[in-house]
Amino acid sequence: MNVPVIGVLALQGDVREHVAALRAEGAEVRSVRRADELTGVDGIVVPGGESTTIGKLAARFGLLEPLRSAVRSGLPAYGTCAGMVLLADRLLDAPPDQPTVGGLDVTVRRNAFGRQADSFESTVRFAGLDGPPLQAVFIRAPWVEEAAGDVEVLGRVEGGPADGRIVAVRQRNVVATSFHPELTGDRRVHALFVEIVRRHLAQEAGVGTRRPAGDERGQS
Ligand code: GLN
Repeated sequence: MNVPVIGVLALQGDVREHVAALRAEGAEVRSVRRADELTGVDGIVVPGGESTTIGKLAARFGLLEPLRSAVRSGLPAYGTCAGMVLLADRLLDAPPDQPTVGGLDVTVRRNAFGRQADSFESTVRFAGLDGPPLQAVFIRAPWVEEAAGDVEVLGRVEGGPADGRIVAVRQRNVVATSFHPELTGDRRVHALFVEIVRRHLAQEAGVGTRRPAGDERGQS
């Protein structure tokens, strides 16, 4: 099977850790700073950092529109923290003119945990992942205030004042987490994303449609 090529938006934030995790999961990885570097990628990761800065830089480098239309056309995308903010269709506690990519039918509140704790760790049970709950690192993190349409909720905060808040979602090929799996060495979310990209590629090549019923290969 072809090796999926995954771009990591490299304008700001924890780019290196995502690159390492995706490579370890078998993807070919490219940094994306310009629109032409988006051509030929099969998926894109939007790292954490500062969403207002990443959005402004993306606009200045002419990347915002190409990213928007790529994600709307089905390019698999995974956003962590500020990346979740950038992939959200609606924002709360954000400057009214904050540039975003969109693609996820969710309302995301920026710096949502702010009054409770700037940074903290917690465990999150992540739907569809085998093994123990994820150790989730939250750094001035957003949460999903409301998930609409066919958005699946994959994880929520357990316990504490933010108990039940949504911190991991998926809508078709777009995944977002409030927390930073790239900082923990646990690559299960990156593996999930690489698998989403692989399946999307296979579908586009028409391979997926010819599998016999009941063949669960490649299912997570
Ligand atoms: N608070 C930041 C924002 O809204 C996100 C922080 C992070 O990515 N760690 O952009």
